[in-house]
Amino acid sequence: MQSLVADAQWDPRSEYNVSDAERDSRKAMNASQVWRNPELRVTDRDRPTPDDDEVLVRVRYAGVCGSDVSMLETDEDGYVHYSAYLRLPNVIGHEFAGEVVETGDDAQLFDEGDLVTAEVTDYCGRCNMCRQGFMGHCENFEQLGFTIPGAFAEYVAVPEKLCWDVSSLRDAYGSDDEVLRAAATIEPSTITYHGLFARAEGILPGDYHVYHGAGPIGLTGMNVSRAAGAGDVIAFEPSDDRREVARELGFDHVYNPIDRDPVATILSLTDGEGADVHVETAGAVSQTYPVIEDALAEGANVVHISNAGSDPGIALRKYQGNGAQLYGSEGHTGHQVYPRVIRLMAAGQLDTRPIITSTFELSNADDAIRRAAERVDGKVLIEI
Ligand SMILES: [Zn+2]
Ligand SMILES: [Zn+2]
Repeated sequence: MQSLVADAQWDPRSEYNVSDAERDSRKAMNASQVWRNPELRVTDRDRPTPDDDEVLVRVRYAGVCGSDVSMLETDEDGYVHYSAYLRLPNVIGHEFAGEVVETGDDAQLFDEGDLVTAEVTDYCGRCNMCRQGFMGHCENFEQLGFTIPGAFAEYVAVPEKLCWDVSSLRDAYGSDDEVLRAAATIEPSTITYHGLFARAEGILPGDYHVYHGAGPIGLTGMNVSRAAGAGDVIAFEPSDDRREVARELGFDHVYNPIDRDPVATILSLTDGEGADVHVETAGAVSQTYPVIEDALAEGANVVHISNAGSDPGIALRKYQGNGAQLYGSEGHTGHQVYPRVIRLMAAGQLDTRPIITSTFELSNADDAIRRAAERVDGKVLIEI
Protein backbone atom coordinates (compact mmCIF):
# COMPACT_ATOMS: atom_id res chain seq x y z
CA MET A 1 0.00 0.00 0.00
CA GLN A 2 1.06 3.59 -0.58
CA SER A 3 2.06 5.63 2.46
CA LEU A 4 3.91 8.80 3.48
CA VAL A 5 6.92 7.99 5.65
CA ALA A 6 8.98 10.50 7.61
CA ASP A 7 12.54 9.63 8.52
CA ALA A 8 15.53 11.41 10.10
CA GLN A 9 18.89 10.69 11.69
CA TRP A 10 19.06 9.65 15.37
CA ASP A 11 21.70 12.13 16.53
CA PRO A 12 21.01 13.36 20.10
CA ARG A 13 22.38 16.81 20.88
CA SER A 14 25.45 16.56 23.10
CA GLU A 15 23.71 18.44 25.93
CA TYR A 16 20.59 16.22 25.84
CA ASN A 17 20.48 13.29 28.24
CA VAL A 18 19.05 10.38 26.28
CA SER A 19 17.38 7.94 28.66
CA ASP A 20 17.91 4.18 28.33
CA ALA A 21 14.23 3.80 27.48
CA GLU A 22 14.55 6.30 24.63
CA ARG A 23 17.67 4.64 23.28
CA ASP A 24 16.14 1.15 23.44
CA SER A 25 12.78 2.13 21.95
CA ARG A 26 14.02 4.89 19.59
CA LYS A 27 11.04 6.84 20.92
CA ALA A 28 12.38 10.33 21.57
CA MET A 29 10.47 12.19 24.28
CA ASN A 30 11.63 15.50 22.82
CA ALA A 31 12.13 15.01 19.10
CA SER A 32 13.80 18.41 18.67
CA GLN A 33 16.73 17.21 20.79
CA VAL A 34 17.28 13.96 18.93
CA TRP A 35 16.04 13.76 15.32
CA ARG A 36 18.08 15.55 12.67
CA ASN A 37 17.94 16.12 8.88
CA PRO A 38 14.37 14.91 8.33
CA GLU A 39 13.03 13.73 4.99
CA LEU A 40 9.70 12.61 3.61
CA ARG A 41 8.97 9.98 1.01
CA VAL A 42 5.86 8.46 -0.49
CA THR A 43 6.60 4.76 -0.48
CA ASP A 44 5.12 1.28 -0.63
CA ARG A 45 4.69 -0.68 2.59
CA ASP A 46 2.91 -3.86 3.56
CA ARG A 47 -0.71 -3.43 4.47
CA PRO A 48 -0.90 -3.74 8.30
CA THR A 49 -2.63 -6.68 9.96
CA PRO A 50 -4.81 -5.71 12.92
CA ASP A 51 -3.86 -7.10 16.34
CA ASP A 52 -6.54 -8.89 18.34
CA ASP A 53 -7.85 -5.65 19.85
CA GLU A 54 -7.49 -3.56 16.69
CA VAL A 55 -9.49 -2.74 13.61
CA LEU A 56 -8.07 -2.10 10.16
CA VAL A 57 -9.34 1.17 8.71
CA ARG A 58 -9.23 2.02 5.01
CA VAL A 59 -8.39 5.71 5.22
CA ARG A 60 -10.46 8.05 3.06
CA TYR A 61 -9.31 11.51 4.20
CA ALA A 62 -6.49 12.61 6.49
CA GLY A 63 -5.65 16.15 7.59
CA VAL A 64 -2.20 17.72 7.84
CA CYS A 65 -1.48 19.00 11.34
CA GLY A 66 1.00 21.65 12.47
CA SER A 67 2.88 18.86 14.21
CA ASP A 68 3.39 17.08 10.86
CA VAL A 69 4.88 20.29 9.50
CA SER A 70 7.14 20.76 12.51
CA MET A 71 8.57 17.25 12.03
CA LEU A 72 9.99 18.52 8.74
CA GLU A 73 11.03 22.03 9.70
CA THR A 74 14.42 22.35 11.34
CA ASP A 75 16.65 24.77 13.20
CA GLU A 76 20.00 25.85 11.77
CA ASP A 77 21.63 22.65 13.07
CA GLY A 78 19.13 20.48 11.22
CA TYR A 79 17.11 19.36 14.27
CA VAL A 80 13.35 19.11 13.79
CA HIS A 81 11.14 21.74 15.43
CA TYR A 82 8.70 19.14 16.77
CA SER A 83 9.34 18.97 20.50
CA ALA A 84 7.21 16.02 21.68
CA TYR A 85 7.25 12.24 21.14
CA LEU A 86 8.54 10.77 17.91
CA ARG A 87 9.89 7.45 16.66
CA LEU A 88 11.21 7.31 13.09
CA PRO A 89 10.94 6.09 10.42
CA ASN A 90 7.18 6.16 10.68
CA VAL A 91 4.03 6.64 8.63
CA ILE A 92 2.83 10.03 9.90
CA GLY A 93 -0.73 11.45 9.94
CA HIS A 94 -3.21 11.30 12.82
CA GLU A 95 -6.32 13.29 11.80
CA PHE A 96 -8.34 10.89 9.69
CA ALA A 97 -11.55 9.11 8.90
CA GLY A 98 -12.30 5.96 6.99
CA GLU A 99 -14.09 2.65 6.86
CA VAL A 100 -13.49 -0.44 9.01
CA VAL A 101 -12.50 -3.23 6.63
CA GLU A 102 -11.22 -5.89 9.06
CA THR A 103 -11.56 -6.55 12.78
CA GLY A 104 -9.08 -8.29 15.13
CA ASP A 105 -10.02 -11.57 16.82
CA ASP A 106 -10.98 -9.89 20.10
CA ALA A 107 -12.31 -6.62 18.67
CA GLN A 108 -15.96 -6.20 19.59
CA LEU A 109 -16.98 -2.59 19.08
CA PHE A 110 -17.14 -2.31 15.29
CA ASP A 111 -18.22 -4.20 12.21
CA GLU A 112 -16.80 -4.12 8.72
CA GLY A 113 -18.28 -1.18 6.86
CA ASP A 114 -18.54 1.10 9.91
CA LEU A 115 -17.35 4.67 9.32
CA VAL A 116 -14.95 5.82 12.03
CA THR A 117 -12.44 8.38 13.17
CA ALA A 118 -9.97 7.83 16.02
CA GLU A 119 -8.16 9.35 18.96
CA VAL A 120 -4.40 9.61 18.74
CA THR A 121 -2.98 8.36 22.04
CA ASP A 122 -3.04 4.64 22.75
CA TYR A 123 -3.03 4.24 26.54
CA CYS A 124 -2.33 1.13 28.57
CA GLY A 125 -5.09 1.45 31.18
CA ARG A 126 -2.81 0.00 33.86
CA CYS A 127 -0.18 2.62 34.75
CA ASN A 128 -0.50 5.11 37.56
CA MET A 129 -1.57 7.95 35.19
CA CYS A 130 -4.22 5.83 33.49
CA ARG A 131 -5.58 4.61 36.83
CA GLN A 132 -5.99 8.23 37.95
CA GLY A 133 -7.99 8.95 34.80
CA PHE A 134 -5.21 10.79 32.97
CA MET A 135 -4.99 8.42 30.00
CA GLY A 136 -3.66 11.22 27.83
CA HIS A 137 -0.53 11.13 29.97
CA CYS A 138 -0.20 7.34 30.07
CA GLU A 139 3.31 6.22 31.05
CA ASN A 140 3.30 3.51 28.38
CA PHE A 141 1.60 5.47 25.61
CA GLU A 142 2.04 5.18 21.88
CA GLN A 143 0.69 7.75 19.42
CA LEU A 144 -0.71 7.07 15.97
CA GLY A 145 1.34 8.93 13.40
CA PHE A 146 4.07 9.83 15.91
CA THR A 147 5.41 6.66 17.49
CA ILE A 148 3.39 4.00 15.64
CA PRO A 149 2.17 3.97 12.01
CA GLY A 150 -0.44 6.61 11.25
CA ALA A 151 -2.94 7.59 8.63
CA PHE A 152 -1.18 9.05 5.58
CA ALA A 153 -1.59 5.59 4.08
CA GLU A 154 -4.22 3.49 2.41
CA TYR A 155 -4.76 1.48 5.60
CA VAL A 156 -4.07 2.02 9.28
CA ALA A 157 -4.45 -0.48 12.13
CA VAL A 158 -6.01 1.18 15.19
CA PRO A 159 -6.80 -0.10 18.70
CA GLU A 160 -10.58 -0.28 18.66
CA LYS A 161 -10.83 1.56 21.98
CA LEU A 162 -9.56 4.69 20.18
CA CYS A 163 -12.18 4.57 17.40
CA TRP A 164 -15.50 6.39 17.30
CA ASP A 165 -18.36 5.72 14.93
CA VAL A 166 -19.31 8.69 12.74
CA SER A 167 -22.24 7.15 10.86
CA SER A 168 -24.54 9.44 12.89
CA LEU A 169 -23.29 12.25 10.62
CA ARG A 170 -25.05 10.82 7.57
CA ASP A 171 -28.19 12.91 8.10
CA ALA A 172 -26.18 16.09 8.48
CA TYR A 173 -23.79 15.54 5.56
CA GLY A 174 -25.57 13.29 3.09
CA SER A 175 -23.08 11.07 1.31
CA ASP A 176 -20.57 8.81 3.06
CA ASP A 177 -17.81 10.64 1.24
CA GLU A 178 -18.89 13.96 2.75
CA VAL A 179 -19.27 12.33 6.19
CA LEU A 180 -15.66 11.14 6.03
CA ARG A 181 -14.36 14.46 4.71
CA ALA A 182 -15.99 16.25 7.65
CA ALA A 183 -14.94 13.52 10.09
CA ALA A 184 -11.27 13.95 9.18
CA THR A 185 -11.50 17.39 10.84
CA ILE A 186 -12.92 16.10 14.13
CA GLU A 187 -9.51 15.66 15.76
CA PRO A 188 -8.55 19.37 15.73
CA SER A 189 -12.00 20.28 17.11
CA THR A 190 -11.48 17.89 20.01
CA ILE A 191 -8.28 19.69 21.01
CA THR A 192 -10.05 22.93 21.92
CA TYR A 193 -13.15 21.12 23.22
CA HIS A 194 -10.86 19.28 25.64
CA GLY A 195 -9.22 22.54 26.73
CA LEU A 196 -12.50 24.44 27.20
CA PHE A 197 -14.56 21.73 28.85
CA ALA A 198 -12.36 18.91 30.14
CA ARG A 199 -9.60 21.13 31.55
CA ALA A 200 -11.04 24.59 32.28
CA GLU A 201 -13.95 24.88 34.67
CA GLY A 202 -16.95 27.13 34.76
CA ILE A 203 -17.12 28.37 31.16
CA LEU A 204 -20.66 29.65 30.74
CA PRO A 205 -23.01 30.29 27.81
CA GLY A 206 -22.69 33.97 26.95
CA ASP A 207 -18.99 34.18 27.85
CA TYR A 208 -16.76 36.26 25.60
CA HIS A 209 -14.12 34.04 23.95
CA VAL A 210 -10.91 35.34 22.36
CA TYR A 211 -8.68 33.16 20.17
CA HIS A 212 -5.08 34.27 19.98
CA GLY A 213 -4.20 32.57 16.67
CA ALA A 214 -6.65 31.39 13.97
CA GLY A 215 -4.72 28.57 12.35
CA PRO A 216 -6.37 25.14 12.07
CA ILE A 217 -6.70 24.70 15.85
CA GLY A 218 -7.90 28.26 16.44
CA LEU A 219 -10.44 28.05 13.60
CA THR A 220 -11.91 24.74 14.76
CA GLY A 221 -11.90 26.09 18.31
CA MET A 222 -13.84 29.20 17.29
CA ASN A 223 -16.48 26.88 15.87
CA VAL A 224 -16.59 24.90 19.12
CA SER A 225 -16.92 28.10 21.16
CA ARG A 226 -19.81 29.30 19.00
CA ALA A 227 -21.53 25.91 19.25
CA ALA A 228 -21.12 26.08 23.03
CA GLY A 229 -22.98 29.37 23.22
CA ALA A 230 -20.23 31.98 23.40
CA GLY A 231 -21.54 35.54 23.72
CA ASP A 232 -19.00 36.57 21.10
CA VAL A 233 -15.97 34.97 19.50
CA ILE A 234 -13.09 37.32 18.75
CA ALA A 235 -9.84 36.30 17.04
CA PHE A 236 -6.43 37.74 16.28
CA GLU A 237 -4.48 36.27 13.39
CA PRO A 238 -1.76 37.87 11.24
CA SER A 239 -2.40 35.78 8.09
CA ASP A 240 -4.80 37.50 5.66
CA ASP A 241 -5.85 34.12 4.24
CA ARG A 242 -6.68 32.66 7.61
CA ARG A 243 -8.66 35.73 8.65
CA GLU A 244 -10.61 35.28 5.43
CA VAL A 245 -11.37 31.64 6.31
CA ALA A 246 -12.61 32.82 9.71
CA ARG A 247 -14.90 35.33 8.01
CA GLU A 248 -16.22 32.61 5.72
CA LEU A 249 -17.06 30.62 8.83
CA GLY A 250 -19.23 33.55 9.85
CA PHE A 251 -16.98 35.30 12.38
CA ASP A 252 -16.94 39.08 12.10
CA HIS A 253 -14.57 40.05 14.89
CA VAL A 254 -11.34 38.79 13.36
CA TYR A 255 -8.36 41.14 13.34
CA ASN A 256 -4.73 41.42 12.41
CA PRO A 257 -2.93 41.94 15.74
CA ILE A 258 -0.16 43.81 13.94
CA ASP A 259 -2.52 46.48 12.55
CA ARG A 260 -4.90 46.76 15.41
CA ASP A 261 -4.19 46.97 19.13
CA PRO A 262 -5.62 43.70 20.52
CA VAL A 263 -6.14 44.92 24.08
CA ALA A 264 -8.05 48.05 23.02
CA THR A 265 -10.07 45.96 20.56
CA ILE A 266 -11.07 43.37 23.18
CA LEU A 267 -11.97 46.04 25.71
CA SER A 268 -14.11 47.94 23.24
CA LEU A 269 -15.96 44.76 22.13
CA THR A 270 -16.61 43.69 25.72
CA ASP A 271 -17.76 47.01 27.18
CA GLY A 272 -14.50 47.34 29.02
CA GLU A 273 -14.97 44.06 30.90
CA GLY A 274 -12.31 41.99 29.13
CA ALA A 275 -12.76 38.46 27.87
CA ASP A 276 -14.03 35.60 30.03
CA VAL A 277 -12.15 33.02 27.99
CA HIS A 278 -8.78 33.41 26.29
CA VAL A 279 -7.44 30.55 24.18
CA GLU A 280 -3.78 30.62 23.16
CA THR A 281 -3.56 28.85 19.81
CA ALA A 282 -0.72 30.87 18.28
CA GLY A 283 2.41 29.73 20.06
CA ALA A 284 3.65 33.33 19.88
CA VAL A 285 3.52 33.51 23.64
CA SER A 286 5.72 36.57 24.14
CA GLN A 287 3.20 38.53 22.03
CA THR A 288 -0.04 36.91 23.21
CA TYR A 289 0.34 36.69 26.98
CA PRO A 290 0.82 40.44 27.53
CA VAL A 291 -2.45 40.94 25.59
CA ILE A 292 -4.27 38.22 27.50
CA GLU A 293 -3.14 39.61 30.84
CA ASP A 294 -4.35 43.12 30.01
CA ALA A 295 -7.76 41.89 28.86
CA LEU A 296 -8.82 39.47 31.61
CA ALA A 297 -12.45 39.65 32.70
CA GLU A 298 -13.07 38.99 36.37
CA GLY A 299 -12.69 35.23 36.91
CA ALA A 300 -11.34 34.70 33.37
CA ASN A 301 -10.23 31.29 32.16
CA VAL A 302 -7.05 31.19 30.06
CA VAL A 303 -6.58 27.96 28.13
CA HIS A 304 -3.08 27.26 26.85
CA ILE A 305 -3.13 24.91 23.87
CA SER A 306 -0.28 25.82 21.54
CA ASN A 307 3.15 24.23 21.53
CA ALA A 308 5.28 27.23 22.40
CA GLY A 309 8.99 27.11 21.82
CA SER A 310 9.72 29.61 24.58
CA ASP A 311 8.26 30.73 27.89
CA PRO A 312 6.61 34.14 28.34
CA GLY A 313 7.04 36.09 31.53
CA ILE A 314 3.78 35.61 33.42
CA ALA A 315 2.27 38.68 35.12
CA LEU A 316 1.09 36.81 38.23
CA ARG A 317 -0.43 39.86 39.89
CA LYS A 318 -2.89 40.25 37.02
CA TYR A 319 -4.17 36.68 37.46
CA GLN A 320 -4.40 37.23 41.18
CA GLY A 321 -6.12 40.61 40.85
CA ASN A 322 -8.69 39.27 38.37
CA GLY A 323 -9.26 35.89 40.02
CA ALA A 324 -8.14 34.38 36.72
CA GLN A 325 -7.07 30.79 36.04
CA LEU A 326 -4.52 29.44 33.58
CA TYR A 327 -5.16 25.91 32.32
CA GLY A 328 -2.68 23.87 30.36
CA SER A 329 -4.33 21.50 27.93
CA GLU A 330 -2.71 18.84 25.80
CA GLY A 331 -4.41 16.43 23.43
CA HIS A 332 -7.98 15.21 23.63
CA THR A 333 -7.94 11.81 25.30
CA GLY A 334 -10.80 10.71 27.53
CA HIS A 335 -13.76 12.60 29.00
CA GLN A 336 -15.96 11.47 26.08
CA VAL A 337 -14.73 14.46 24.11
CA TYR A 338 -14.95 12.69 20.75
CA PRO A 339 -18.57 11.54 20.96
CA ARG A 340 -19.65 14.98 22.15
CA VAL A 341 -17.95 16.72 19.23
CA ILE A 342 -19.57 14.18 16.89
CA ARG A 343 -22.97 14.93 18.46
CA LEU A 344 -22.47 18.67 17.90
CA MET A 345 -21.73 17.93 14.24
CA ALA A 346 -24.72 15.61 13.87
CA ALA A 347 -26.95 18.29 15.40
CA GLY A 348 -25.75 20.82 12.83
CA GLN A 349 -24.10 23.00 15.50
CA LEU A 350 -20.56 22.45 14.26
CA ASP A 351 -19.42 22.30 10.65
CA THR A 352 -15.68 22.38 10.06
CA ARG A 353 -15.78 21.71 6.32
CA PRO A 354 -15.26 25.38 5.35
CA ILE A 355 -11.89 25.16 7.12
CA ILE A 356 -10.65 22.73 4.45
CA THR A 357 -8.89 24.92 1.90
CA SER A 358 -6.58 22.51 0.00
CA THR A 359 -6.78 18.82 -0.91
CA PHE A 360 -3.98 16.59 -2.23
CA GLU A 361 -3.71 12.99 -3.44
CA LEU A 362 -1.73 10.50 -1.35
CA SER A 363 0.86 10.21 -4.13
CA ASN A 364 1.59 13.94 -3.55
CA ALA A 365 1.32 13.80 0.23
CA ASP A 366 4.81 15.28 0.65
CA ASP A 367 3.60 18.34 -1.28
CA ALA A 368 0.62 18.57 1.06
CA ILE A 369 2.96 18.90 4.04
CA ARG A 370 5.00 21.57 2.22
CA ARG A 371 1.82 23.44 1.38
CA ALA A 372 0.71 23.36 5.02
CA ALA A 373 4.13 24.76 5.95
CA GLU A 374 3.21 27.96 4.09
CA ARG A 375 0.69 28.57 6.93
CA VAL A 376 -1.94 30.18 4.77
CA ASP A 377 -4.50 27.37 4.75
CA GLY A 378 -7.27 26.53 7.15
CA LYS A 379 -6.79 22.78 6.79
CA VAL A 380 -4.89 20.82 4.16
CA LEU A 381 -6.44 17.39 3.52
CA ILE A 382 -5.06 14.31 1.82
CA GLU A 383 -7.64 12.29 -0.09
CA ILE A 384 -6.96 8.58 -0.37
ZN1 LIG B 1 -3.14 17.18 14.99
ZN1 LIG C 1 -1.14 3.95 31.04
